[in-house]
Amino acid sequence: MSNPLIKLENIEKVFYTEDVETHALSKISLTINKGEYVSISGPSGCGKSTLLSLLGLLDTNTGGSYQLAEHDVSNISKQQRAKIRNTEIGFIFQSFNLISDLDVEENVELPLTYRNNLTKKQRKEMVKNALLQVDMAHRAKHFPSQLSGGQQQRVAVARAIAGDPSIILADEPTGNLDSKNAAAVMALLDELHAKGATICMVTHDPRSAEQANRNIEILDGHLVSDQVKTTKAA
Ligand code: ADP
Ligand code: MG
Repeated sequence: MSNPLIKLENIEKVFYTEDVETHALSKISLTINKGEYVSISGPSGCGKSTLLSLLGLLDTNTGGSYQLAEHDVSNISKQQRAKIRNTEIGFIFQSFNLISDLDVEENVELPLTYRNNLTKKQRKEMVKNALLQVDMAHRAKHFPSQLSGGQQQRVAVARAIAGDPSIILADEPTGNLDSKNAAAVMALLDELHAKGATICMVTHDPRSAEQANRNIEILDGHLVSDQVKTTKAA
């Protein structure tokens, strides 16, 4: 039985800058079910990051409709978007995006501090669990500059999963990592998926795409291919 978590219908995104209009996304319709592991690939500039930003409520579509979990998020206030983003979405960026002035624990805790229904004790517990899952609990008091790239990305994964989001969105999560650290981060995503997480990952690496159980390709803002694997690679 399908269990739609994300439903995009005829999504359009046009950027208006000075005298240029860029049609970054054209008529994208897409349903993502709970528990899926989706890869999005395509050439540079085809609209992958734009699509992920829309999915993650970091940006808004200029046309079409978007349903996320039980929310119609196409037409909601900025405050509502922020609230839904904070509870439903875990984002992992290529460049980690940790805050250099905060230690590991504080970085992971930060998104949780915007939720007003959590006590400090509950937040600490969630941070601890997330750091244990990515094997970074022993570095809780370190600052990002004291960690390797691979370790920083694992902390960023912890930050993404700490609040138990409905979906994890990752934009080229291994793009700034050497092959060994990249493999470790990919293994981590695989493990999270095996535990039930829904993941949508932008990647230009065919081997990373191979790990997903559904592969989407975008070309010039159009969804040109959407293939579900019948058996998941081990
Ligand atoms: P990808 O991630 O696939 O490399 P992007 O989604 O970043 O591609 O970009 C898709 C297109 O939209 C590109 O032509 C890019 O120049 C344009 N674009 C992306 N973000 C903006 C923006 N904030 N303002 C104007 N144009 C943008
Ligand atoms: Mg991109």
